Amino acid sequence: MIIVMRQGAAKKELNEVLKRIRDLGYKTHIIHGVERDVIGAIGDERGKARLQSLESLSGVEKVVPILKPFKLASREIKTEPTVIDVGGVKIGGEGFVVIAGPCSVESREQLIETAIAVKKAGAHILRGGAYKPRTSPYSFQGMEEEGLKLLAEAREATGLPVVTEIVNPADAELIAKYVDMFQVGARNVQNFALLKVLGQIDKPIFLKRGMMTTIEEFLMSAEYILAEGNRRVILCERGIRTFERATRNTLDISAVPVLKGMTHLPVVVDPSHAAGHWQYVLPLSKAAAAVGADGLMIEVHYRPEEAVSDGLQSLKPEKFRELMREINPFVRAAGRTL
Ligand code: PEP
Ligand code: MN
Repeated sequence: MIIVMRQGAAKKELNEVLKRIRDLGYKTHIIHGVERDVIGAIGDERGKARLQSLESLSGVEKVVPILKPFKLASREIKTEPTVIDVGGVKIGGEGFVVIAGPCSVESREQLIETAIAVKKAGAHILRGGAYKPRTSPYSFQGMEEEGLKLLAEAREATGLPVVTEIVNPADAELIAKYVDMFQVGARNVQNFALLKVLGQIDKPIFLKRGMMTTIEEFLMSAEYILAEGNRRVILCERGIRTFERATRNTLDISAVPVLKGMTHLPVVVDPSHAAGHWQYVLPLSKAAAAVGADGLMIEVHYRPEEAVSDGLQSLKPEKFRELMREINPFVRAAGRTL
């Protein structure tokens, strides 16, 4: 349920309402809006009638049900877009944010050279996997803590905030020491134990859509993180599995406006994993910017032919520079700035 406070309601009135909601056994989530405060009362749907009675309290304008199964993620509870700060970079605001870097952290030289190149080209955040969720157990699994140390070094060298994927909930504390944002990969989007752990962490979460996840299921995954108290979730469309084999996945470009209508959370597009081939990354990036995405995640490698993972879809630094130039008119047409 959503408890909408009156404009100018007193702090005392708000506190009284919060107390009553908690006494009824619900969790409260306050959203301080521009005009008024709104409280989300989250818990067992069966007690709805008792919450309705809060309408008689002073300071309360109305009590309305949230119709969607995802509550905290929905536009019903928060109409304004959420802007998330990632190490000083704001995602979801006017700026169009580009996250770039290699699929995996492979060596100091590879990471630092690639990081410097993407920074020079205008990227805002550096990516790099230190723990890789590979389809085959025989494939490279990542440099683990050594990789995290290199990411921290790359941040020192470039000033770019860094994001890396978490695979095992047990690594959360260690990873948090080194990075600015956690990534949940497509294969873990419904790993609810992992999502719950990340909901208790004080860092933004970059949540990728699974290759077989509907938009509603995707938002329910975001809800797992939000319900634990972490409000900083960024959604990423990275392609879904269809019958088409010319590309690695099919970029669900319509997911961007659909998600934007359903949720206040930022939406980023990863054309690299959707396409699977570097040649399609630029046109799909233009489409993502034009359709209203809040940013991009792009795989870049200083020598893609030597990459241990996802070399085929990785851009060389000069191609990434070209991309940053060529997406600009599309970013501006969508009313954003690069
Ligand atoms: C990645 O970002 O390198 C990755 C593994 O992506 P996804 O989880 O979308 O496949
Ligand atoms: Mn990859």
